[in-house]
Amino acid sequence: MKTIALVAHDGKKQALLEWVKAHADFFADKELYATGTTGSLLTKQLGRKVHCLASGPLGGDQQIGALIAEQKVDWLVFFWDPLSSQPHDPDVKALIRLAVVWNIPVACNQATADFIVHSTLLQQDYQRTVPDFSSYQNRLQPD
Ligand code: PGA
Repeated sequence: MKTIALVAHDGKKQALLEWVKAHADFFADKELYATGTTGSLLTKQLGRKVHCLASGPLGGDQQIGALIAEQKVDWLVFFWDPLSSQPHDPDVKALIRLAVVWNIPVACNQATADFIVHSTLLQQDYQRTVPDFSSYQNRLQPD
C-alpha cells in the first residue's frame, strides 16, 4: 500500500480533507495522486507533495484510471457524491470500473476507508491478485 489515488466530488471534499487529516500519520510515507482540485486542497492540508492531475471533469478521473491500468495505484479513495449529478458521470463510472477490473481496493465512503486504513493486512506483505487477462487478450488470435 504505497501509492494512493484520492478523488472527491465537491460535495465530499470537506469530508475527504477531514478524513485525511485524521489519518495524517498513515499518509506520511505514501505517494499520493489526486485529481486537480482535490489534490491542491490536499497539498495545502498536508503541507506535502501530492501529484495533482487534471481536474476530474477535465480528464483527471481518466488519468487516474490510466495509472490503475498501468498497475501504479495500490488503493483508490474516491469520495463520490451520491446526491449530485456530475457532468463527467461516464468518467466516474469508468474509474470505479477500472478499480474493479484490476482488483485494487476502492473506498467510496468514509466507513470503507476506515476499515482499509485499520486493516491488519497493512502490517503483512499482502500481495493483491493481479488478474490475468491473457485469454481475453488472445481471444481473437488465429490458432
Ligand atoms: P477535482 O475532480 O478534484 O478536480 O474536483 C474531482 C472529480 O470530480 O472527479
